[in-house]
Amino acid sequence: MTAILSVQGLVKSYDGRPVVNGATFSATAGECFGILGPNGAGKTTTMRCCLGLTAPDEGGVELCGYSIPAMAREARYRVGVVPQFDNLDPDFTVTENLVMWARYYEISKRDARAMVPRLLELAGLEDRADARIDALSGGMKRRLTIARALVNDPDVLFLDEPTTGLDPQARHLVWDGLRRLAKEGKSLILTTHFMDEAERLCDRLCIMDAGKIIAEGSPRQLIESHIEPVVVEVFGEGVHEWAEKEASVLVERLEVSGETAFCYTHSADAILAAMSSYPQLRAMRRVANLEDVFIKLTGRDIRD
Ligand code: ADP
Repeated sequence: MTAILSVQGLVKSYDGRPVVNGATFSATAGECFGILGPNGAGKTTTMRCCLGLTAPDEGGVELCGYSIPAMAREARYRVGVVPQFDNLDPDFTVTENLVMWARYYEISKRDARAMVPRLLELAGLEDRADARIDALSGGMKRRLTIARALVNDPDVLFLDEPTTGLDPQARHLVWDGLRRLAKEGKSLILTTHFMDEAERLCDRLCIMDAGKIIAEGSPRQLIESHIEPVVVEVFGEGVHEWAEKEASVLVERLEVSGETAFCYTHSADAILAAMSSYPQLRAMRRVANLEDVFIKLTGRDIRD
C-alpha cells in the first residue's frame, strides 16, 4: 500500500520548547487519517510541517511522493487545504471565491467557471452561486471552504478541525460531504479533538499528546486494545461512597471524575446489581468508544 503522507521523527520547537517531539506516522492513499489530540498537542504545527508552511527542526516528511519542505511547491498542486478558520474573501460572491482560488493553480478563468457547478453541488450551495459571503451561515462557509480546496482536483485534502464551531446539523452535512469525497478516492488528513468525528470518519488515526504520537490504529483497534468493552457511568448522590465500597472490588478499571464513576468492565450485570442498596444512584450503560481511549491516554485534565 502506498503512503500518501509519511512523517518520520518530526521535531519542532518554539522558544526552546518542543511542541512536536519526534512524531512518526503515515497515511495510506485513499484513506481518511485523523490526527487527534487535546488543545496544544501539536496537531496544527504537525500539519503545517507536512504542508511545508513551517520548517521542522528535525525529521522528514514525504507528501504525495515529494520531500517536504524541499518540494512543497510541487506537492501543493496535488493537495487541498481547509484551514481551521474560514478565510473566504468577503468582497466576492460564492462563485467568485472559487474562481479566484483557481488562479493560484494557474487554472484559466474559463476552466474555473466550468467547474463551479460541480463544486457548488458538492457543497450543497447550488442556489447560492451569487450570494455574498456574509450572507452565508457558518456551515455554508465551511462547505464552501472545502469546495474551494477542491478546485485543483487534489489527491489529498488536509482539514484542520473541519467542524469546530458548527452546530450538529451543519456538522452532519460536512461529514456527509467528506465521506463522499473519501468514496471518490480522495485521501483525507484531518485534525480534530472531536472523538465522534474521528470515529465516524477515520479509517485510521493517531493520538498526539505533548508533541508525541502515543497511539496509532483504526478506531476499532484502538478501542479493543486499550479499553474494556463495556462502560457503566454511575452518577448521583453518594457515588463516591458507592465507588469506594462497591465498585472498586467489582470492576476491572474504575475512574471517578467529579460526580461520575466510570466503570470499565466486560459485563455490566454485577455493577448494576451492586447499585440496589443505593436507590438515589443512576447509571448509563454503553459500549466503549474512542473518547474512552483518548481520556485513558491523555487524561481528564482540561487543556487551554
Ligand atoms: P494543536 O493544534 O494541537 O492545538 P498547535 O500545534 O497549534 O497545537 O500548538 C502547539 C503548541 O505550540 C502550543 O502551545 C502553541 O502555543 C505553540 N505554538 C504553535 N505555533 C507557535 C508559534 N508560531 N510560536 C510560538 N509557539 C507556537
